[in-house]
Amino acid sequence: MKQVNILGIPFTNMDHVTLVQQLQQHIEQREKSFVVTANPEIVMRAHDDSYYMDCLQAASYITADGIGIVKASKLLKDPLPERVTGYDIMMEFLQIAEQKKYRVFLLGAHEDILQRAVRNINAHYPHIEVVGSRNGYFEWDDHTVAEDIHQAQPDIVFVALGVPKQERWIAENYNKFNQGVFICVGGSIDVVSG
Ligand code: UDP
Repeated sequence: MKQVNILGIPFTNMDHVTLVQQLQQHIEQREKSFVVTANPEIVMRAHDDSYYMDCLQAASYITADGIGIVKASKLLKDPLPERVTGYDIMMEFLQIAEQKKYRVFLLGAHEDILQRAVRNINAHYPHIEVVGSRNGYFEWDDHTVAEDIHQAQPDIVFVALGVPKQERWIAENYNKFNQGVFICVGGSIDVVSG
């Protein structure tokens, strides 16, 4: 897989169509994967915080969530094809999940917003099975969050805990899972809640 290094972060050189196809393949083959959509805030934070950088290095794919990052790659003569945001991947994946009847888990946001997002997904995508949800305001050492996800056996886990919590949480818990595409989606659960 081709990567482009920007300030120490190995960005995945892939357009969103190829990335989504690739993630779908992981689901079909029951493999896990971890997707970070890195905006300039993430890049700068990783530059200053080596532990956070280690968490990002654990990702299977890192997309450029910012036109500035795409421009930087062009200046480095190693161009990334396009900006790929967490929200775009989430929307595209919900369409695919509807066709393929994938199992989806939502992790993050405040409880009322989260439940509204679950209701909206159920209303708009009747074939998606939302197999679980947990709000994003739990104690860091609360092991029941990972246990709930493990038991639900989701194909896709949308993780919306904000930066840097979402990337840290996946990196620290990833070894507990044997399947599922874990995607950091920032404030997207808020958007889906309507
Ligand atoms: N969030 C969360 N737990 C936290 C902090 C944030 O679940 O401890 C959620 C927040 O409710 C929102 C999402 O993370 O749904 C994104 O938050 P924010 O806009 O602060 O982060 P950003 O998108 O800027 O990374």
